[in-house]
Amino acid sequence: MTRQAPLIAELVNLATTRSRGGGSVKPLSGEDLATAFAAQFGDRTSAALRAVPDAGERLAELATELRHALLAERPADQAARINAMIRKYGAQPYLVEDVGQPFHLHFHGSFGTQVEALGGEFATALALIVDGYGPDRFGICEAHQCEAVYIDLTRNASRRYCSTACTARAKTAAYRSRRQS
Ligand SMILES: [Zn+2]
Repeated sequence: MTRQAPLIAELVNLATTRSRGGGSVKPLSGEDLATAFAAQFGDRTSAALRAVPDAGERLAELATELRHALLAERPADQAARINAMIRKYGAQPYLVEDVGQPFHLHFHGSFGTQVEALGGEFATALALIVDGYGPDRFGICEAHQCEAVYIDLTRNASRRYCSTACTARAKTAAYRSRRQS
């Protein structure tokens, strides 16, 4: 399920983040959100996502739920929010064989559109991350002018930045401030 982690962070960031990578950004909604998020997927899923009526509104709602789950302050609150999403989207485990791949487990939502299917996948992914890594693996980028969320799947919980670009920016800033002092 760790393959879902970057997609979860990207959806939350596209829909809710106001500064990213050193500059301010406008949270996306409606058609813009649907188009930008659909671009994360291959042709088939992308087309299915864009074909959903009100895809942007549904994605924005899912992004808000994910953000609240990621950034919940207490583990009990976080667990309750994730459990509520699993129920809401009717996440169901089943084995799927994609072309050229061995059977692997999906947790698509069992009712609704492609957005609800992803809701089931994402809610289950968060549950498995909490189960496997603990409740503290979700954070906000520490680089200057960036509020993007990230999911930390490193072995030693060492992640502090949303992207390699922000890691590089933060390193450069630290180097400059050392040289000036
Ligand atoms: Zn960042």
